Parts: sequence; C-alpha cells; structure tokens
Amino acid sequence: MRLLLGGDQRQTAADVLNQLKLDEPVTVEPMRAFPPIRDLVSDVSWNFRVKTTIAPFAPRTPDAPDGTWRMQQHDIDRVQEFRKCIECFLCQDVCHVIRDHQLTNGFIGPRFLTFAAALEMHPLDTGDRIPALRHEHGIGYCNITKCCTKVCPEEIKITDNAIIPLKERTVDRFYDPVTRLLRMITG
Ligand code: SF4
Ligand code: SF4
Repeated sequence: MRLLLGGDQRQTAADVLNQLKLDEPVTVEPMRAFPPIRDLVSDVSWNFRVKTTIAPFAPRTPDAPDGTWRMQQHDIDRVQEFRKCIECFLCQDVCHVIRDHQLTNGFIGPRFLTFAAALEMHPLDTGDRIPALRHEHGIGYCNITKCCTKVCPEEIKITDNAIIPLKERTVDRFYDPVTRLLRMITG
C-alpha cells in the first residue's frame, strides 16, 4: 500500500505511520469534490457514469495468420503506465475544475482523461475520441496545474504522459491548418 505524504513524496503506509507526530492532531477527511454519504464515505458514482461516456476499445482486425495481433513493445510500454490506475479518484478530488468549479457536466476529470489516453494510444485501437474530448469531455478546461499528478498513489504522470499528448492531438485536429486541410482531402 502506498500513501501520499506531503508534496509528491510517496511512502509506504508503515513509513507514514512511523513518522506521525503523536503529539499533534491527525486529520482524516472524506473526499470533498463528491457528495458526502456518511463519515469518511463520499458518493463517487458520478465517476462510473462518466466512464460509460467514453468510446470503448475498438481493436483493428487481427493481422497475424493465427488470428492474433502483433504489437511493438514500446507501444505497449507507453499505455501500460495508465493501466496501473486503481480508481481511487484522488486525482478527481483535487482537480479544481471538479472540486471548486463543480464542472461535472462538461469535464471528465484527470482519471478519465487518462483512461481516454490509454485507449487513444493503444496500438490496436481504431477509435477516435478526439472530437468528444474537445466538445463533450472538456479537455480545454484543464490548465495543467498538475495537482492530479502529485496525489496519484500509483505515480502515473497524468498531466505529462496523458493529458498533454491528448491536448496536442486536439490542437492538431482542430486548429492546425495543414492537418485540417489534409483531413478534408483524405476524409
Ligand atoms: S492538471 Fe488539469 S486535470 Fe490535473 S488537476 Fe490540474 S486542471 Fe485538473
Ligand atoms: S489518482 Fe491515480 S490511481 Fe487514483 S484514480 Fe487518479 S490516476 Fe487512478
């Protein structure tokens, strides 16, 4: 088990407990971005509804004679990081777009931007989630504060490895004139 202890310093639960100052109060709080249910329990069901709005994995046709696929190891390595997510939703809880501005109706949050990145960057996937990321999923609301990355217990580089590449793809698709012209020509 890994816990966050100040800044981006990550230590085991035993390390954290051993370093607690027993002469000072220890504050344990529920997540604040989501409605409280009771004590430390918050209602995070919104997150599971959001997940269903993201286009699922759409693998291309198998390309090997035995009906399987071939992939490059470096392509697999790129998305493997995102699969470490344990859906603790700490990143969602600290994101100011959700927590402070309550923009839960046009922004999916860092957890699901990471989920979308894992699908978009998967070497077998044929889906196209870029228009939805721009129009319905609110990627433009993220201003790269990196608060989400700092709290991730799995040390996923949410902003650098998931959100920024997705933003680059969105900009290329919608704002780069050469890319837009090529897409108009090639369909
Ligand atoms: S980097 Fe973006 S997604 Fe992450 S906490 Fe900041 S605004 Fe939210
Ligand atoms: S903080 Fe990390 S592990 Fe937790 S939901 Fe976000 S990406 Fe997943």
